[in-house]
Amino acid sequence: MITTLTLPRLFDAHVHFRNDEMLQLVVPFTAKYASHAIVMPNTRPRAILTAEDVVWYNSEIERTLDQLRPRPNFKPLMTIEIRDNTTPEIVARAHKVGAVAGKVYPLGVTTNSNEGLRNFFSKESLETFEAMQFLGMPLLIHGELDLPRTLVTKREEVFLPTFLRLADRFPKLKMVLEHITTKAAVATIRHLGPNINATITAHHLCTTLNDVVGDGIRPHNMCMPIPKDFEDRDALISAVISGNPKFFLGSDTAPHPREKKECARGACGVFSAPILPELLAEIFEKANGLSYLEEFACDFGAEFYGLKPATEKITLIKEAWTVPEIYGNVVPFMAGEALQWKLL
Ligand SMILES: [Zn+2]
Repeated sequence: MITTLTLPRLFDAHVHFRNDEMLQLVVPFTAKYASHAIVMPNTRPRAILTAEDVVWYNSEIERTLDQLRPRPNFKPLMTIEIRDNTTPEIVARAHKVGAVAGKVYPLGVTTNSNEGLRNFFSKESLETFEAMQFLGMPLLIHGELDLPRTLVTKREEVFLPTFLRLADRFPKLKMVLEHITTKAAVATIRHLGPNINATITAHHLCTTLNDVVGDGIRPHNMCMPIPKDFEDRDALISAVISGNPKFFLGSDTAPHPREKKECARGACGVFSAPILPELLAEIFEKANGLSYLEEFACDFGAEFYGLKPATEKITLIKEAWTVPEIYGNVVPFMAGEALQWKLL
């Protein structure tokens, strides 16, 4: 039986660090075990839309890292939000100051997407994607559509035709369908070219809709896209233990204050950062796929962004522990439950 697991520092291709006190609370968790993280731009009140925003937000994160002793060997990788009024010039300037990708939120599908993209195929959007293709700058997509008479559980599937149309229109554009949750999305990604990839979260590998509404309403498991059916979860697990570089880790750790989750009309987002390596080890071990964990969580994401996997290692040991009920004012994923692996 394996009782020690040594991995390079993780490459987390999708994190929400928020800002102010929340930023200070959550950054240390990811910085403890990751070499890099792709930092999402949907912050409020100031969203990350331009080169100036990128420089400002990066300095906020770096300032938080500077306060940690010892300073962790962690580098945030910045992104901008692509909206209807984003231009090729805005993209080029942001790229120049270090933005590694642009993120699209279709209007109204998740936290802070009230100013999301309305039209993927407007003249302006097409020019922006063209510029990103030219720069080699990946387009990251929250792949859901909020359509009339469409259940929340179907929003990912109804987005896939739009995604296929984009892939067809921009054959060299690097795209990532973020946090996929369906069997249909897994199949779509498998069939497209090597420039088309997907991130998968840890929580979608171990939850279904039943864990959100099947046994009382469990607000801390609620996220967008919403966890789906058992066969969808099975397809995600098969994807991550297939050794296919198109699928890599993006945890989508998304903290909200407890009062914003435990209320009428609670916020969507799962705070997985405090337990991510441990949870992944448990999931991969259960699926008899521990040997695929390093590629999924460390190598494939780094390669996609043109980086080498980290040389610095982290170590996990087989030792049961109980996840704390709360960190600051944020309830973590699996609060109060036991995990079998522990990060040293
Ligand atoms: Zn997200």
